[in-house]
Amino acid sequence: MPSQADSRNKLSAWKCRIKSMNTKKTSLGALQRRIDAIKEQLCGLGDLRPGALSQQYNVCGKPGCRCKADPPQRHGPYYQLSWTRDRKSTTRFVRASELPEVRKQIRNYQRLQTLVERWIDLSLEICELKKKGGRE
Ligand SMILES: [Zn+2]
Repeated sequence: MPSQADSRNKLSAWKCRIKSMNTKKTSLGALQRRIDAIKEQLCGLGDLRPGALSQQYNVCGKPGCRCKADPPQRHGPYYQLSWTRDRKSTTRFVRASELPEVRKQIRNYQRLQTLVERWIDLSLEICELKKKGGRE
């Protein structure tokens, strides 16, 4: 009976082989189709926002307020969105009612980044394939 580590090694070697087989088999057409699919997804992206949401809790100026009790129950959470554009960082408060929309916009932005990265990878593969094809 092989040990767990042995079978894990075999499995990963196998996965490696499958991966390299796939890479060799990938044709220009297949790569192009994957890029086309990415373009389609890019077109479907809705509004987007760069940045990250953070939460904060505040203390007010009202005397005897619960935010000054022991232990203090501070007000909040308040949400803010921070992003950097052209080396300038900006922070905006986000209302609780706006949160679902803003979260979606942030996801869209991240999706955009992922899709663009994939596009670049595939495009590099295409360039390499074309170069090889030209040499043969
Ligand atoms: Zn208070």
